[in-house]
Amino acid sequence: MARDPRYDILFEPIRIGPVTAKNRFFQVPHCNGMGMSFPSAMIAMRRVKAEGGWAVVCTEETDIHPTGDMSPLVEGRLWDDRDIPVFARMNEGIHLHGALAGIELTHTGPRDACLYSREAPLSVAHVPVAAGDYPVQARAMDRTDIRNLRRWHREAALRAKRAGFDVVYIYCHAGSSLAGDFLSPRRNDRTDEYGGSLENRARLLRELLEDTHAAVGDTCAVALRYVVDDLVGADGKADMEESRQLVEMLAEVPDVWDVNVREWRRDSVPSRFGPEGSQEPFINFVKKLTTKPVVGVGRFTSPDTMVSQVKRGIIDFIGAARPSIADPFLPRKIEEGRIDDIRECIGCNMCVSSDFTMVPMRCTQNPTMGEEWRKGWHPEIIPPRKSEDRVLIVGAGPAGLECARSLGNRGYDVVLADGRDDLGGRVLAESKLPGLAAWRRVRDYRVQQIQRMPNVEIYLESKLSADDIRDYGFPKVVLATGATWRRDGIGRALSRKLPGLEEVAVFGPEDVFAGATIAGPVVVYDDDRYYLGGVLAECLRLKGLDVTLVTPASDVSNWSHATLEQGWAEERLHEIGVGIIEKHTLVAARKGSVTIAHGASGRERDLPCAALLLVTMRLPNDALFHDLQAEPEKLAEAGIKSVLRVGDCLAPSTIAAAVYGGHRCAREMDEPPAGDVPFKRELIALE
Ligand code: ADP
Ligand code: SF4
Repeated sequence: MARDPRYDILFEPIRIGPVTAKNRFFQVPHCNGMGMSFPSAMIAMRRVKAEGGWAVVCTEETDIHPTGDMSPLVEGRLWDDRDIPVFARMNEGIHLHGALAGIELTHTGPRDACLYSREAPLSVAHVPVAAGDYPVQARAMDRTDIRNLRRWHREAALRAKRAGFDVVYIYCHAGSSLAGDFLSPRRNDRTDEYGGSLENRARLLRELLEDTHAAVGDTCAVALRYVVDDLVGADGKADMEESRQLVEMLAEVPDVWDVNVREWRRDSVPSRFGPEGSQEPFINFVKKLTTKPVVGVGRFTSPDTMVSQVKRGIIDFIGAARPSIADPFLPRKIEEGRIDDIRECIGCNMCVSSDFTMVPMRCTQNPTMGEEWRKGWHPEIIPPRKSEDRVLIVGAGPAGLECARSLGNRGYDVVLADGRDDLGGRVLAESKLPGLAAWRRVRDYRVQQIQRMPNVEIYLESKLSADDIRDYGFPKVVLATGATWRRDGIGRALSRKLPGLEEVAVFGPEDVFAGATIAGPVVVYDDDRYYLGGVLAECLRLKGLDVTLVTPASDVSNWSHATLEQGWAEERLHEIGVGIIEKHTLVAARKGSVTIAHGASGRERDLPCAALLLVTMRLPNDALFHDLQAEPEKLAEAGIKSVLRVGDCLAPSTIAAAVYGGHRCAREMDEPPAGDVPFKRELIALE
């Protein structure tokens, strides 16, 4: 297909200092849980981005010295020459596809506790370190320390050049880099030439930029990642006027400005709390003050939004982390006029969670993310089928849909049957809840792909029994029948059915999805601790009900700290008047009230309750599986060779896990067994 000429502008080459980017697609630095711990996986992931058409592919933040050791976070590392080969190999792959390789150098100062190196962290002033509330302080840097920092930065830039990088970053973000800490009026209380006036506070940043130019600027572009609303004073408010002055002051110093906003939860705003392109009002002043190209982010997945931002002079480069994770081939799909094939990021931030959990990144939309090396999975290529067997997939939630899409791509003849009148399973239901509309993309992308496949047939309103499945007589059966929320209170905290449940109106999430009539006061008991309890509380409150959310966790929607949703969710619930009771377990119910107990003291109290909504845990819908397995001779008679369970039907989990499970099932169909350890591992070499 030909590219839509409206999008031609996105494919103009852009010069950055001594190098030229082949188009406007710029994969900005992003962490990935692989970094220095799983380098082969990280290299393969970045290479795939270059193959997918990104003109610039950058590393995650990369620490440059043991006094800026980010451990236990898994990021990049460039302390000495021994760290060069990993990046050299990555860059070789990136260059193979005509892309530029960028590295984000940083010294995170008092953010991290130097837990591996055991060095004393450095800072602009004496201050406790931020990460993990470790009882460790960073010490104020003197002139010698500043001289050393400049030397380490310069040496890291020289190593980056030797590793083949084309773009070398200076990172300026208060809380994640010393350059940003020095610039910050709230953090910098120095009385020397590095403190006081804006010029003094910006001195270190300017020096680092100039040092980098002098060291590597002949062949490498010098990039500045600048957080535009970081100049926060003692009152906690951003001084945008001073920020403007800073950009004016340094306007032509870097070769490219990469600008974004403060706080990761705002920068990578979850789709529940911010739309595509939401940074525009904050960053739009930068391009007016510099002739250098500007990169901006905003979970861009729509080429029209991209073109609009470029044409209106907001940005020159379409910066992207999440959209490049959900679809590493996004630029190529636009270039080839395959807009419908774009796998749009849903803004769930499951990818972000991998930074906190320090394991290879996973993505709800892209099941191959993090598996490029260890399983050899390519996001766009899947091996052809190895047999003529037809496959019956029961259940069209995320797992069934992804399994059907991938088997269809492999060339298998597939029937996908679902008992409901629409496809999508839990995702369809949940995407109707407040803030979750973008999550529907998990369904829409797959349905759209499947509908174009002549070898995949869809049957709706087809609730299948074991007899029905045997009647189909397909050699391969995949059960993707999902899971059902418990309605007895059992979960993490309770291991026995809650006493007194018969006396109160009890509901589960599916009842809310189905629009059940619920009368308040409602108690939402959230022992699941991710997003759903909070979202359902919001949903019921917006219907005008009196709602109290009780959770045994220390925070409401506790696990969503990992997806940057927690702070937003808590604010939202407070704003709309949902009562929140944390660290309490449900102990009993009776007509008109429930009893809850404090997790540590055991002190009990009663809450008025006409309706109890239990969000605790799910049980797999695996009755079909057991029915089929119970009569093996009938299976054989029907010509059924295998019955597999995928997604929540095997073990209830995240939507990302269901998509992954469906994909894996399709990849492994008719392939030799993968072995007890079903992927390649990276082993640390012994000295
Ligand atoms: P997952 O997240 O694992 O994909 P979901 O709960 O989202 O699971 O989807 C399961 C789907 O399976 C639902 O759409 C449901 O209607 C369907 N389903 C469950 N049991 C049957 C059955 N016996 N026959 C047909 N469809 C079924
Ligand atoms: Fe987007 Fe979610 Fe994938 Fe992250 S995990 S890239 S937010 S779809």
